[in-house]
Amino acid sequence: MGLHYSILASGSTGNSFYLETENQRLLIDCGLSGKKMVELLKQIGRKPDDVDAILVTHEHSDHIRGLGVFARRFHTPVYANEKTWQAMPQSVGGIPAEQKFIFPANTVKSFRGLDIESFSVSHDAADPMFYIIREQNKKLTVLTDLGYVSEHIKGLIRDSDVYVMEANHDTEMLMMGRYPWNVKRRILGDTGHISNDESGLALNAVLGNRTKKIYLAHLSKDNNMKELARLSVSQYLEKSGLKAGRDIGLFDTDPEHATQLTAI
Ligand SMILES: [Zn+2]
Ligand SMILES: [Zn+2]
Repeated sequence: MGLHYSILASGSTGNSFYLETENQRLLIDCGLSGKKMVELLKQIGRKPDDVDAILVTHEHSDHIRGLGVFARRFHTPVYANEKTWQAMPQSVGGIPAEQKFIFPANTVKSFRGLDIESFSVSHDAADPMFYIIREQNKKLTVLTDLGYVSEHIKGLIRDSDVYVMEANHDTEMLMMGRYPWNVKRRILGDTGHISNDESGLALNAVLGNRTKKIYLAHLSKDNNMKELARLSVSQYLEKSGLKAGRDIGLFDTDPEHATQLTAI
């Protein structure tokens, strides 16, 4: 049946991503309440008991809010790198030791034939990392929460079939908005988040003949709008002669609703 995926929720308020093959069902992050996570899985016809493991990107609350409750209730194994584990406990509570696993940054782990590569990103957390998922000859990149897209990362994520890519803010909206200056500086900085323009620019540099779909993710509730993110990124695609909707799928994600379970 191949690889299927759904972005259960994405945005500055909470993130979770679902992956499924015949043999394996995984979550990347569990950033909504336990109750909401169950509801999101229900939206794609899945139950929390179905989840074989949860992979954590970093310890910010919009990525781990429901992790403790979910893992304890459904006895789900959890993978994170060592520094992230150390940074997590207060907010996550006691996940039993036998459910805790280490997934170091910049390594590849195989989950019953589903190969997942972790790579470090520049973001203000203990040891943040994101993932490239490979199944057969397909490649899916999940990348949000980073201050800038380095040349090294561009090399890793080049020519993916599907991108789930941060488009956090519209720089003008952020600058004009009500956030205090130190918060604005954090978001704009090298360890913050990438803007619609930075996202478009990076996508323009990495997409290839295989690339079919882009999902714009981790939009700020206060400093972005779906239409604006889509418009900005499609302008960069046009620079490569690609029209969104015709040559390449450009999709929204939502903080409350799961995207349809889709085959890669
Ligand atoms: Zn985040
Ligand atoms: Zn973060």
